[in-house]
Amino acid sequence: MSGQETAGHSQGAETREFSAEVGRLLDLVVHSLYSEREIFLRELVANAADATDRRRFEALTDGALVLPEDAKIRINPDKDARLLTITDDGTGMSRDELVNNLGTIARSGTRAFGEKLADAKPEDKPSLIGQFGVGFYAAFMVADRVEVVSRRAGTDEAWKWTSDGKGAYRLEPASRDKPGTDIVLHVKDDADEFLDSWRLESVIRKWADHISWPVTILKPDGEESAANTGKAIWLRPKNEVTEDELKEFYRHVSHNFDDPWATLQWKAEGTIEFSALLFVPGSRPFDWAGEQSRDSKVRLHVRRMFISDDAMLLPSWLRFVTGVVDTEDLPLNVSREMLQATPVLARIRKAVTTRVLNELKKRSADDAEGFEKFWENFGSVVKEGVWEDAEYRTDLAGIARFRSSAAEGWTTLAEYISRMKPEQEAIYYLTGDNADILAKSSQLEGFRARGLEVLLLSDPVDSFWPDRLTSFEEKKLRSITQGQEDLEKFAVTDETSLGDAADLSGLLPALKEVLGDEVSDIRATERLVSSPAALAASAAGPDLQLQKLLRRSGQDVPDVAPLLELNPRHPLVKEMVSRAASGESVKALCGLILDIARIQDGEPLKDPAGFSQKLTDLLTTKG
Ligand code: ADP
Ligand code: MG
Repeated sequence: MSGQETAGHSQGAETREFSAEVGRLLDLVVHSLYSEREIFLRELVANAADATDRRRFEALTDGALVLPEDAKIRINPDKDARLLTITDDGTGMSRDELVNNLGTIARSGTRAFGEKLADAKPEDKPSLIGQFGVGFYAAFMVADRVEVVSRRAGTDEAWKWTSDGKGAYRLEPASRDKPGTDIVLHVKDDADEFLDSWRLESVIRKWADHISWPVTILKPDGEESAANTGKAIWLRPKNEVTEDELKEFYRHVSHNFDDPWATLQWKAEGTIEFSALLFVPGSRPFDWAGEQSRDSKVRLHVRRMFISDDAMLLPSWLRFVTGVVDTEDLPLNVSREMLQATPVLARIRKAVTTRVLNELKKRSADDAEGFEKFWENFGSVVKEGVWEDAEYRTDLAGIARFRSSAAEGWTTLAEYISRMKPEQEAIYYLTGDNADILAKSSQLEGFRARGLEVLLLSDPVDSFWPDRLTSFEEKKLRSITQGQEDLEKFAVTDETSLGDAADLSGLLPALKEVLGDEVSDIRATERLVSSPAALAASAAGPDLQLQKLLRRSGQDVPDVAPLLELNPRHPLVKEMVSRAASGESVKALCGLILDIARIQDGEPLKDPAGFSQKLTDLLTTKG
């Protein structure tokens, strides 16, 4: 410690500005979430419990961190001083951790929260705070000043963090006789209720009853009374747990404010024993859409004790499922390494995954309408499983829902197959960014004219999974922008008269000369009806939508020129053919037709100025 000025401390007192996002967020939290003020206590107690869990876990590998026997979370209201203190025996925070955890926004979801909150209608705001769990900053709803005194377990220096929540915070050396954290709230004049021990107790009962560490409240008579029962709701017999208790627990583990779409509670007995309580959320959480992590956050407990929320109890494609799995088949002091390696966990994973999947299948079959709502929230995630999980691929494809060119609403692959033409061999699909735009795509014209249905796939993952699934119930999946579609064998059923097809051979040399290597090939197509031209992926390269996605995500995609497909029955194409035959110049039209195809595919024009020049020239010379 020599050479340091403030004995035992690495640095002295200092005032710092909050990061810009924290400032904005604080403002929003304090001013727009008034009606749900009591949740500040839930957030602070949850943080205290998390820190205590973390210390217990760290102590497994570092004896110096071991928790005191009577580790608990203490809530101490002091009416006279107007102070409310929440104390824990958790890991505590070092100086750096105070700066990083409380002075900046570490979680990417929090920034998204700020944006959402700014846009939200007043009545939606309270539920947003639940979805995001803005956590620590909620303290400023009831306090005009917050002090955090903390000592990191394993060190002997303590620091005090102080702020009025208005742009800056102060750090200074402090003392604390043991590791842990005190959060001291200087309670606002209009928040008296939170100095009342009965009121505090009712908030704990409501929000934090199941916290596994004892939570005590100091009563006016000087007695510390237990405020939570700490009962593990997931271990209680199913018929003894009320709907309300389940909902409350769901809201706690998921940070959601809605009701679960599905609640699964069961006890597995036999070679492997565990209890599970899992929820599928009823809506898509906002911070979840940011998808900072693809890992399942289902919590692993061993005999009630929290062990880890990154034991990956479910595959990524079920990462929206929240809840708890509790087993007796692992030792309490299971380490991270052991978690990776133990076959027990692999067996639990498999059992839990199968159970959730069976529930999804059941609902898919029994409650199509309810399932579609689920699919709108999480379908894009489930489809990742079709792509990456060979074991469940076919099952997942079976419950997947799709938009289609032929049906309103959602359809399944099985339903699509039941509507296929007798001579149709493949399931056709078209990928893009937006189902409504896809539905109007010129690529569909030839299929529509022949009464052929095309699935419209508009999630990013849709560019990937069809290649892996390859077929469903023995029907191949085929992208209509990729393969050579042999549409001629299907009779045109639509009234639209197609007219005669022109022979393109006389036009091709002129086109090739003008377009050069901007296109890999030019050919006639039966796919189009009312459009003159469209682009298709060259057989040598990936699907067009996939190329677009990869480029957008910054990946290097070899520039494979697309195929230009011409509609030989279209008046414009016929006009070009006849001009070429009579020796007239078709140069300008050749350049334009590629641009038209690009526009129709929603591709940006390579040279917009050149395009408008060509168009202007053409219009003026034609008069
Ligand atoms: P979250 O809990 O979702 O991470 P919070 O805003 O509630 O977000 O807390 C921010 C971070 O501050 C926590 O992740 C944790 O690292 C730290 N923290 C908050 N309270 C405590 C505490 N009592 N003890 C130790 N660390 C804490
Ligand atoms: Mg928190």
